[in-house]
Amino acid sequence: MQVDYLIIGQGISGTWLSYYLLKEGKSVLVIDDAQTNTPSRIAAGIINPVTGRRHVTVWMAETILPFALDAYSQIGQQLGIPAISQKTITDFFPSAQMRLSFLQRAEEDNTYVRMPQDESVFQEQFHYELGYGQVMPAYTVHLETLLPAWRKHLLSQQSLLEEKFNLSQLQIKNDAVQYNHIHASRIIFCDGASSAQSVYFNRLPFAPNKGEALTLEIPDLSPNYIYKKGLMLTPLATPGQWWIGSNYAWEFENDEPTEAFRSQATTLLKNWLKVPYRIHQHLSGIRPATLERRPFVGMHPLYPSVGILNGMGTKGCSLAPYFAYQLACLLEHDEPVYPEASLSRFERILSR
Ligand SMILES: Cc1cc2nc3c(=O)[nH]c(=O)nc-3n(C[C@H](O)[C@H](O)[C@H](O)COP(=O)(O)OP(=O)(O)OC[C@H]3O[C@@H](n4cnc5c(N)ncnc54)[C@H](O)[C@@H]3O)c2cc1C
Repeated sequence: MQVDYLIIGQGISGTWLSYYLLKEGKSVLVIDDAQTNTPSRIAAGIINPVTGRRHVTVWMAETILPFALDAYSQIGQQLGIPAISQKTITDFFPSAQMRLSFLQRAEEDNTYVRMPQDESVFQEQFHYELGYGQVMPAYTVHLETLLPAWRKHLLSQQSLLEEKFNLSQLQIKNDAVQYNHIHASRIIFCDGASSAQSVYFNRLPFAPNKGEALTLEIPDLSPNYIYKKGLMLTPLATPGQWWIGSNYAWEFENDEPTEAFRSQATTLLKNWLKVPYRIHQHLSGIRPATLERRPFVGMHPLYPSVGILNGMGTKGCSLAPYFAYQLACLLEHDEPVYPEASLSRFERILSR
């Protein structure tokens, strides 16, 4: 079998890279082993335009956010599914100090952050004493429908192989690669935290980070909002289904759910929610985060047929469409990747 591109992984990165390469008229084969606990399969899909306790606007917001909105709308149209929804984040203040800090931020720059007219609106649904602020527009990507729908599309074109990719079977030639019976011009790794162990990319400053979430059934809550109080309570695509998370563990023994997170989330829910809820699942996974909090996008300096699209960290939903597009433009039109994300910044480390 001969293809232009072999892509390893069909998380959000592999999904977008295959989308843009197919749009370029290229042939792709995606190999994905369908693990159930990967970040793309357990994430809430939130695109939040601000970050941190100070509600600072996210990196490259003016470029990346409109690009993502347009990209998800287009792929949704192609697949006949809603892939993205606009939401408002209702940020309940956990302390008087946080209220003050939010007010200051809204006065400095109200592009995404503002105070509501009436802070009593959610009194039937939540316990809160210190009021709330609003972040808008935010979005949720419907990962739980988008990823299977794209997989089905790839399968229908014989462009997806559901199996574990075994690096020891890969042969790298001058301007091509071979994997068992598959011959490809290039191979691109979109395999998330696995790349941190790969012989090609283990020198990159990955900083894998574990996160957990619970899924819930809550019939009596408006899905137009994401509710935040330490954790984010987020509507999923199926009506009445919700997701609450997450934590950020830099040190962990395995990728299993922990009692500590379950206890943190259930205590919060008990003290916060006034409406009935039922817990379904406890999920956990390892984010492919990086020390500099910037993605890794490009081709290996020593192996020009081997590339990577990775390092999406906590923001895969907003970063993956734009940087997949940039990688496709590099591969097909020799256009440079944005310097802060380009793999060429690690040329020396990877050439050793
Ligand atoms: C609890 C949690 C909540 C999150 N919430 C959000 C959020 O709300 N918004 C947001 O933007 N981001 C969120 N993130 C981060 C986001 O999920 C990641 O940035 C993103 O999913 C990374 O996508 P990826 O495709 O690069 O990697 P992955 O999701 O890890 O995908 C890698 C794919 O490669 C496959 N694979 C790996 N190795 C092999 C192999 N050897 N053979 C075959 N297949 C292989 C895996 O099965 C997987 O499908 C969250 C993460 C976690 C853990």
